[in-house]
Amino acid sequence: MNAITVEPKKPRSARFEKVPEPSLRDGSILVEAIAVGVCGTDLEIAEGKYGWPPPGQDRLVLGHESLGRVIDPGSSSSFHKGDHVVGIVRRPDPVPCPNCAVGEWDMCRNGQYTERGIKQINGYMSERWSIEPEYAIKVDSSLGLLGVLLEPTTVVTKAWEQVVTIGQRAFWEPRTVLVTGAGPIGLLAALLGVQRGLEVHVLDRAESGSKPDLVRALGAKYHTGTVRNVGFEPDVLIECTGVGTVVAEAVQTVASGGIVCLTGVGSGGWSAGLAAAEVAAEVVLKNNVIVGSVNANKRHWYKASEALSRADRGWLSHLLTRCERPENFAQALERKPEDIKVVIQFAEV
Ligand SMILES: [Zn+2]
Repeated sequence: MNAITVEPKKPRSARFEKVPEPSLRDGSILVEAIAVGVCGTDLEIAEGKYGWPPPGQDRLVLGHESLGRVIDPGSSSSFHKGDHVVGIVRRPDPVPCPNCAVGEWDMCRNGQYTERGIKQINGYMSERWSIEPEYAIKVDSSLGLLGVLLEPTTVVTKAWEQVVTIGQRAFWEPRTVLVTGAGPIGLLAALLGVQRGLEVHVLDRAESGSKPDLVRALGAKYHTGTVRNVGFEPDVLIECTGVGTVVAEAVQTVASGGIVCLTGVGSGGWSAGLAAAEVAAEVVLKNNVIVGSVNANKRHWYKASEALSRADRGWLSHLLTRCERPENFAQALERKPEDIKVVIQFAEV
């Protein structure tokens, strides 16, 4: 079969090439790939900045935002031929650490977890893949291609769960949320904010294109410019850019007793004249919490699939801005100004 593979840590090594059929070692359910979403992590792996091949191999099958159709459910009685499924990305570390031992692999303590398409396990950008029944999530087949949005939705589902858990430390009635960054993660974070009944604001650099319309279509308010100039102090701030100045201003702008949830990974730029002690003073005097959130466990996958089923299909479909064929993977791995979510489509839905 064909797959999109890379040699991790080697820039421009991506290829669309023949690889062996899926191994039962990766799981007893055999799946035909429908589509795989492309995200920043994939671009970083393709640029040679990140990624680890399976032990004893040089190349890694890329892709962690999957959507497929069951060809053969194997011995599993809970999956059937034709079911639409998405594969969970992370697997617990082999030790395991206490968190992985209780199924919270998203909170792994020792960093020895593995991840499909990223860290030591082949990903989902192959014509067929196999998966363990306990790491396969059934998705509403009426979502069609939109099921490929499940993985990014799990990331924001976990982020929201963290925010709500932290909020319970005191009397807490959040009313407003500001999401910084209107990429797929930011837009999905805004969607979940609307589903929670909050007044949602989204800030992004883009002054035109589909992002402002998508935000307004949610019933949320779109802002450009700086976080400090949004004109209010948000109770919750979900940061999805990883840009240093945005992070610094988020901490300064959030309301007293507010929560800043960081989901973006960037580098440099903690400027805005804010030194560590000043950040600490802001946080102390306002009882703020700054929390980082990454990945998701099975509970978040379940909740995310519920959230996706409840969302407006027309709105979700506007997040998928470009669909490329696997042999055109090079274009899929290029960032274009109008892109929100690019998918590589392997088969008809
Ligand atoms: Zn662990």
